[in-house]
Parts: sequence; structure tokens; C-alpha cells
Amino acid sequence: MLRAGMHVLVVNAGSSTLKFQLIATDPDAMERDADRRLVSGSIERIGGHALVTLRRPGRPRLLREMPLRDHRAAIEQVLRFIVSDESGVDEVRALGDVHAVGHRVVHGGQRFRQSVRIDTEVIHAIEDQVELAPLHNPANLKGIRAITDLLGPGVPQVAVFDTAFHATMPETSFLYAIPYSYYRRYGLRRYGFHGTSHRYVAFRYRKLRGVPREAVTIVTLHLGNGCSACAIKGGDSFDTSMGFTPLEGLMMGTRSGDVDPSLVAWLAEKEGTSAADVERMLNNQSGLLGVSGLTSDMRELLAEEREHQDRRVTLAIDMFCARVRRYVGAFLAELGGAEAIVFTGGIGENSPAIRARICAGLGWLGLELDPARNDACTDGATGTIHVPGGRLAAWVIPTDEELLIARDTVRVITTGDPRTP
Ligand code: ADP
Repeated sequence: MLRAGMHVLVVNAGSSTLKFQLIATDPDAMERDADRRLVSGSIERIGGHALVTLRRPGRPRLLREMPLRDHRAAIEQVLRFIVSDESGVDEVRALGDVHAVGHRVVHGGQRFRQSVRIDTEVIHAIEDQVELAPLHNPANLKGIRAITDLLGPGVPQVAVFDTAFHATMPETSFLYAIPYSYYRRYGLRRYGFHGTSHRYVAFRYRKLRGVPREAVTIVTLHLGNGCSACAIKGGDSFDTSMGFTPLEGLMMGTRSGDVDPSLVAWLAEKEGTSAADVERMLNNQSGLLGVSGLTSDMRELLAEEREHQDRRVTLAIDMFCARVRRYVGAFLAELGGAEAIVFTGGIGENSPAIRARICAGLGWLGLELDPARNDACTDGATGTIHVPGGRLAAWVIPTDEELLIARDTVRVITTGDPRTP
């Protein structure tokens, strides 16, 4: 089947949230970078009094509150909106105009090395990974089941995994130095996440530079609420900072990133609580929030620092930048050098100040930022931000995971192969 102008619904179902985008694309549009984003939105607080936000290009966004008891009710609402006059999408008037659905699935385990068309066997295999991602995969499965119910089994669905891009990591990167038998028995290893984002940014980089995939050796830095770095060698993920779960690696909005694992049992005993409680603290109350004692939001921290020179706020920001620098150094050493570092994610794309603080003192590596170029790259701008002539380049490339999910969906359906040509 090779269909022109497919309407692909991209679904990202979280435990009580749902994000969606409707994207019109086909192989020809991809080639010309002429994919069209028709409408998008998000739903929060599914299971209670939900907040629905709907975005239409060139028109004011719509905000609604309504009780939505589960993911099926949420997706029903999304579909109803898409085909309504309100959405302003004239080319989608009935459910039959939604041609395919692409789902973000968090954990593909060792089974899924690339995006796949969803069938009963794939659903069972995603269920098998629930043990590895108990918070995320069940929500993703709810999204898949709700779509099957509402659109019927005839509408093709594709799963795009957050872990898949990192499937190329060598054992030296993905194993923990613990008894090998745990890896054998349970698949206890580093998987990495944010794979769709790192892959998209690496793809954009090679298109912008006009080089083949094999020539791409870079370090990508996804800095958003969640943060991860990826060492990309010959176009493939060679190492990444997140591990068995997204807790490992960089300091994030509310996650600690790397800590000495001994502190878990120690603190559990001190506080008379459980290891699971300490882990929750490391995920939800740490990072920028934990150190600043104020907020997990980098923009708010930068504003606070400007206005009040709060010591803990500056400390949180400095620790964040120092940790990124540590990983840049480590990954450049692992790669034996790279041609560029690439910033993406809400912080990476929008904050010249943080980029400058991260790159401060990297002159010895051959990287110096150009302040004017750095300041100019915000709000979705793409470009280089370094002084030309150095050994190492720095780029800002906005990520677009939804677009890559839509494109993978079309490629899997039309050719069976999700890889970007
Ligand atoms: P997520 O990881 O949830 O997708 P984002 O990629 O949107 O999140 O990143 C959110 C982070 O980006 C927040 O910490 C936010 O403060 C930060 N951010 C967004 N815009 C700016 C800005 N102009 N300056 C500094 N930080 C920003």
C-alpha cells in the first residue's frame, strides 16, 4: 500500500496524560520535508476532572475541563474533536480519514530494535516488557487498545520505542558491572531512553550537513524536564546516559541522575522507610527541584537567579551544567573525538545562558561559543552556535519526536522498514 497524503494520528499515552498530534505525510512529503501538522493537543488528569488543551495552527487554542474516566474516554474525545468543525481540519471529516496511528511506547526491552506494526503478538511482547517499565508500558497499551476499539482493527497501528535507537549499544556500554547472571536471568542492563529524540536530531544533523549516516559521530544532549546525553558513532547510538530506567545519568528537573547506589539502603534505614520510597524521592523530589528547594523548571530558576541571587538556585543550575559537561567529556573520550555536540529539548533549544554555562571552559577541546549566534538560537531556530574554525562544533537542533513517529508509521506500513533513507 502506498498512499498519498496519509493522516497519521500520533499518540503518547502516559499514566494519567495523553498527548496527540495529527500529521499529514507520505513518502513524497517526507522526501521534500513537506509533512503537515494539522492539529495537536494534550489531556491531563485522566481518571478525574481532566484538562483538555487543543491546538490548531493559526487559531487560538481551546481549553476544556471535563470528567474523563479512562484512556478510552480521552481518545474518544480526541477523535471527536479531530473530525469536528472546531478543529478546522477540513480534510478530516470522518474517522475513516484517520489512516494510521503511531504510538510512542516507552520500553521495547531487548525484543524491539526498531519500530514495528502492532498485531496481537506485538501487544503480547509489549506486555512482556511491563516488568521493565511498570509505570509506562501499561499506559501505552491502554492507548493501543482504545484505538483498536474506537477505530477498528483495520486501521494500522505502529509502535515506536523510546529504547530502540539504543539497541546498537555495545555490551561495554550496556552492561552493569554486576554478576553477569542477572543480565542473563532478568535482562537487567542499561537500555537508554529518549531514543526517538536522539535519533531524530542525528538524522536532522546529517541532512543539514549533507553527510551520510555512517559519517555522523556526535554527542547529542536532550535537555528538557528529563535529560539525557547520547554518544552517536557512525550514525548509531554507542552509549547513552540513561540506563536500566530513566533515573541514571544527567541531573534533571526532578530526577537525581547518577548517585552512589549505596545511599538507597542507607537512607531507607535512616528515615525508617523503604527502598521504593527512596527511589521515588530520587525520581520526583530531586534534581533541580531538590537542590534549589524551589522548582524543577529551568526557566523559573534562571529568573529567580537574576532577581534574587539565591545561592541554592545558582548551585542547582551550576550542578546541572557541570553534570552535562562531565558526560560530554566522557562521551568524547569514548568516541575518540566527535565533530559536534548538539543541543535539543526545552532547555537545550531555548536557553543560550545554560548552553554558555555548559560550554564554558571547553576551549581546550576546540569549542568556543559565538555569543551572538548562541543568543539567536531560541524558539525553534536551528543553527550552529560556535566560533568557526575550532575542532568541535556546537549546534542547536529542535527535536520533533512526533514527526519521527508519524514518519516511522508511514514507512513501516508502506515498506515494512522504518529506517530513514
Ligand atoms: P519535556 O522533557 O517534558 O518534553 P521540555 O523539553 O519542554 O520538557 O523542557 C522543559 C524544560 O525546558 C523546563 O525546565 C523549562 O523551564 C525549560 N525551558 C523552556 N524554555 C526555556 C527558556 N527560554 N529558558 C530556559 N529554560 C527553558
